[in-house]
Amino acid sequence: MNQSKAVVVFSGGQDSTTCLFWALERYVEVEAVTFDYGQRHKLEVECAAAIADELRAKHRIIDMSLLGQLAPNALTRNDIAIEQQEGALPTTFVDGRNMLFLTFAAVLGKQIGAKHIVSGVCETDFSGYPDCRDVFVKSLNVTLNLAMDYPFVLETPLMWLNKKETWELADRLGAFDFVRERTLTCYNGIMADGCGECPACVLRRKGLDDYSAVRIRGVLS
Ligand SMILES: [Zn+2]
Repeated sequence: MNQSKAVVVFSGGQDSTTCLFWALERYVEVEAVTFDYGQRHKLEVECAAAIADELRAKHRIIDMSLLGQLAPNALTRNDIAIEQQEGALPTTFVDGRNMLFLTFAAVLGKQIGAKHIVSGVCETDFSGYPDCRDVFVKSLNVTLNLAMDYPFVLETPLMWLNKKETWELADRLGAFDFVRERTLTCYNGIMADGCGECPACVLRRKGLDDYSAVRIRGVLS
């Protein structure tokens, strides 16, 4: 067990919940941080609070409503459809969102004496979000250390995992059923297996199917 503290950027979805389990296993003290940026579905914030409570992780909700003001997007506005034109970023992309989340988490981290900042960003099932790439996270890590003169370590345990491997990691952490039943990934705000049709559900479902096939074989053999 690492004696230092960690802050987990936590949305209550599959990826960040897996990261929360990962951090709870690793660090002596963990604080989960959820950013409220006017998501279409208030349920996302409620879901995150319920999960943190159940896992007995300290939880903090930070108001980031300015994000919707600066960059209107499909996650905060009902009149913008979730779609992706060929060669363009999906309408769910919010410029600078991940950069701001990591930065705010780091500011908080320094305040509470945590140097590890954990995020579920991932480059493998890459939807083109530039500030979720490994090169960006490494670059920001250096910048944050310089900005606050503090030895932050940005941790991205999912960076090189595909969705199947993320389910596998959740399973290894003893969290497979919890993540499957209690998290909210769906863009239409439906918990667990979701609406089954939005891009987030399709990606989650494919990973789950791929992993379930391996898992069932493992149980039977
Ligand atoms: Zn969905």
